[in-house]
Amino acid sequence: MSRRQIIIAGGGAAGFFAAITCAEADPDCAVTLCEATAHPLAKVKVSGGGRCNVTHACFESRELVQRYPRGGRELLGAFHRWQPRDTVAWFESRGVPLKTEEDGRMFPVTDNSQTIVDCLQGAARQAGVRVRLQTGVRRVGRVVPNAPQAAGKINGAFSVELTTGEVVECDRLLLATGGNRSNAGLEIAARLGHAIEPPVPSLFTFHIKDPRLAGLAGVSVESAATAVRGTALKESGPLLITHWGLSGPAVLKLSAWGARTLHDGGYKFALAVNWAPRFTTETCRAELERARAANPRKQLGTWCPLGLPLRLWEALLPAAGIAPAAQWASVPGAALRALAAQVCAGEFAVDGKSLFKEEFVTCGGVRLSEIDFKTMESRLVPGLHFAGEVIDVDGVTGGYNFQNAWTTGWLAGRAMAGRAE
Ligand SMILES: Cc1cc2nc3c(=O)[nH]c(=O)nc-3n(C[C@H](O)[C@H](O)[C@H](O)COP(=O)(O)OP(=O)(O)OC[C@H]3O[C@@H](n4cnc5c(N)ncnc54)[C@H](O)[C@@H]3O)c2cc1C
Repeated sequence: MSRRQIIIAGGGAAGFFAAITCAEADPDCAVTLCEATAHPLAKVKVSGGGRCNVTHACFESRELVQRYPRGGRELLGAFHRWQPRDTVAWFESRGVPLKTEEDGRMFPVTDNSQTIVDCLQGAARQAGVRVRLQTGVRRVGRVVPNAPQAAGKINGAFSVELTTGEVVECDRLLLATGGNRSNAGLEIAARLGHAIEPPVPSLFTFHIKDPRLAGLAGVSVESAATAVRGTALKESGPLLITHWGLSGPAVLKLSAWGARTLHDGGYKFALAVNWAPRFTTETCRAELERARAANPRKQLGTWCPLGLPLRLWEALLPAAGIAPAAQWASVPGAALRALAAQVCAGEFAVDGKSLFKEEFVTCGGVRLSEIDFKTMESRLVPGLHFAGEVIDVDGVTGGYNFQNAWTTGWLAGRAMAGRAE
């Protein structure tokens, strides 16, 4: 009996995970992984600042899906089949224990992404996956479009044109070509009839030129609240002032949830910031009045009763018309009200975006309603599967994007081996 031929386009996290899963599930499958570049798993290597944030210690599927601005609903069932606990067990069973940091992000205990690269490459080798580098998938055609499915046969044979000039045939094809830089995978999916949600960046920081932030690069607030004026977009969490504007989880989450809206607005918008979200402007003003009554002779610039970093506090005082050298007793009620507004309802004009430590993911990709999330198989083209960032799924920062790659790669790998649960 001839072996089932599987071709995987893309040697990233999703492609490798699918290839290993498929080859291990059915050794009768001949799995060939085609990677366009000379560098497989390149993003795994640079991920997490070279440490690879493999997944997140969030083991409740319902909670986990909340971290995906796009794809959460579709991933719910998928996470019941393969979730972070399975990822952790998979790597541990191959001699790669993971550790959890305080914020829930999980890394290899080696703190070195090469450990993950080596593990995936070793597992692929052992499972008999044929990895072909500098071999891109250029074009795909159907060999037997719409042929009736004979018993025991796979309906969905493809002819695949490679960048080497070869044309090869396969029974199942996985597109795991990632989200950004190259759109080759999306073009192939589109030519096979799939709708594509236009790709735009997600996970970025905000450009802001504002005297209140000048010279404060490196100052951070543990818990701030941010919102995009005129939209329902709002987030909270640590906020970091950079040379170019604002970053940190409260901004990155906003950029992910607002990826399309902010793109459509040319990345120009008004950002509201509450630096002390346990207060409203009103309760903050009352707190400032209490501070004034208790410390009439103190200079405002020497002490912040709200617990903000002093350098930030010193920058907010002049914005409210208060000299840092002024004594509390000399500050009128109107100025305290203005200061409370600066703390709790500051407005900053955003005029662009930057990458966050070179990390970014793509919002957009193959339309989700056209994919069966039990098998990651196309609902339009039998035998065609998808995994990873090529589909319209993306998560916030914290290991969720790799978890999407592991989960969808695993589901596709099992299904291509004929072992879908
Ligand atoms: C700098 C950086 C750091 C990151 N850090 C983290 C992190 O710590 N944790 C986390 O969860 N997420 C992180 N991410 C996001 C994460 O890396 C991606 O979501 C993930 O790599 C997606 O995996 P993938 O296999 O779908 O795509 P990719 O990793 O992009 O792999 C796709 C592969 O397909 C190849 N390819 C493209 N077209 C073709 C073709 N036609 N034929 C053959 N091959 C093709 C590409 O060369 C590439 O190797 C980071 C992203 C970046 C950019």
